[in-house]
Amino acid sequence: MNHVRPPRDIAIVGAGFAGVACALAITQELGPSVPNLKIRVFERSDYPSTSGGAVNLTPVAQRHLTKLGVMQELNRMGTYGGADIDAVEVFSMNSARPIGSVDFRDRAGKSYCGFKGRRVMRVVLLTAMIAVAERANVKFVYSKKVIGGEEINDSAVVHFEDGTCSHADLVVGCDGVHSLTRTTWVDPDCPSEYSGMSFLQTTVDTNEISSPLPCDSALHLSRYGSLITTYCDRDRERIFAAAIVQFTEEEIDCYRLKPGQDWDTRNRIKSSLRNQLQCRFRKSAEPCVKEIVHSDQEWMLYPVYLIRPGGRWCMNRVALLGDAAHAMPPIYSSASYALDDAILFARVLARYRLEPLYNVFDTYEKLRRDTVDNAFVESNRIWNRMKDRGSMDARVRDWKMASYLKHDSHKLQKTWNADAAMIPIPTPEATGPLLSMQTFLRASVK
Ligand SMILES: Cc1cc2nc3c(=O)[nH]c(=O)nc-3n(C[C@H](O)[C@H](O)[C@H](O)COP(=O)(O)OP(=O)(O)OC[C@H]3O[C@@H](n4cnc5c(N)ncnc54)[C@H](O)[C@@H]3O)c2cc1C
Repeated sequence: MNHVRPPRDIAIVGAGFAGVACALAITQELGPSVPNLKIRVFERSDYPSTSGGAVNLTPVAQRHLTKLGVMQELNRMGTYGGADIDAVEVFSMNSARPIGSVDFRDRAGKSYCGFKGRRVMRVVLLTAMIAVAERANVKFVYSKKVIGGEEINDSAVVHFEDGTCSHADLVVGCDGVHSLTRTTWVDPDCPSEYSGMSFLQTTVDTNEISSPLPCDSALHLSRYGSLITTYCDRDRERIFAAAIVQFTEEEIDCYRLKPGQDWDTRNRIKSSLRNQLQCRFRKSAEPCVKEIVHSDQEWMLYPVYLIRPGGRWCMNRVALLGDAAHAMPPIYSSASYALDDAILFARVLARYRLEPLYNVFDTYEKLRRDTVDNAFVESNRIWNRMKDRGSMDARVRDWKMASYLKHDSHKLQKTWNADAAMIPIPTPEATGPLLSMQTFLRASVK
């Protein structure tokens, strides 16, 4: 009789937020009951990604990171560990008039279980997460681009670009929106799609601009896109600025820096991006916005891609988490969904460790799918407000924004109280042959 044994050798594809959080959460949840648990994270780059801007950690994301031991590591990093944020204040760019806010405090002005919002540079957060994971014996293997996989007998096999392969009991694809785990293995019919919107981001030293920020974290709305200005370090010495702008796919191609471009081309692209921002936001009544877009900072283009809801998230021995499964516009909480996925998946895996993997995947999807689908609709609705519009339309949008924000706040507060660590996981039903204690112990040490 074939007995089910818990997955002991787990391969995670991608060392982004989803991948590292998944490694940490599985170590915590499954580690105590599976001796010799082996978790390897395969990352295509030569080192942890250092690019990207500052991410916003919602109260629930910080609760997860505390449970995983990462907030403690972030706090040890001193000022680089990020800026605590009470709210994102929203302004009309043309008049500098405050319109409303997205609050990280509850209606009584209190934090959610001790957390408000926090802005932290993506690279800093990832470094903290990897440090904690390495201490927990997670093995990171860099320069290992996964190009596909297959399932042979009781094993999943990942194939790498360098011609090698690796076997595992379970593969978790956390390789981001353009995931090859998805497009070559789990769901080849589910490509990523460009959202029509891009981020242009930079960081500026606070002392490089003379006008103060209107508040710790602000979203300035204009006809031709929006600009986020926010501190991203505890001592408020660095400002992260991110414009959310509408670009066509052709424009992205023109503005993208690619390997092998000569110095002139790269300079031309950088200056075109600066021009774009200056044209779009030239009428800003907010002095700090004017100063930032007219400074000679380098802006990094980050086109936002999506995955339409409804795609497959798993096959027999492979599951997708994070952007690989459900990339959506990063509104207020891009990293949080990846963390939620990891926590919930690890909890289900631990609870169903003596069940076939299809029961694990099925239970996880039942608990997760609706939340993610609703978040996709919500984030697209908010995203659409940032699109270019005529001047009258922009005025109406600004005028209606206060009530939009109140409505959003209500929903967001619910989201920030929801916690993947608290979702009740149904008791596994007795489907297959029960494992005796002896068989389980034998399987675990095999
Ligand atoms: C470079 C970069 C910059 C970003 N900047 C921002 C930002 O400024 N603001 C924001 O809101 N969001 C940003 N994001 C997105 C945000 O971080 C993610 O939406 C979110 O955190 C989900 O995380 P994830 O781990 O699912 O995916 P990702 O963060 O995309 O991580 C995926 C990881 O998998 C690796 N990978 C990809 N393909 C393979 C492969 N075939 N084999 C092995 N490894 C692979 C990637 O190198 C990456 O490390 C950025 C993402 C990246 C990759």
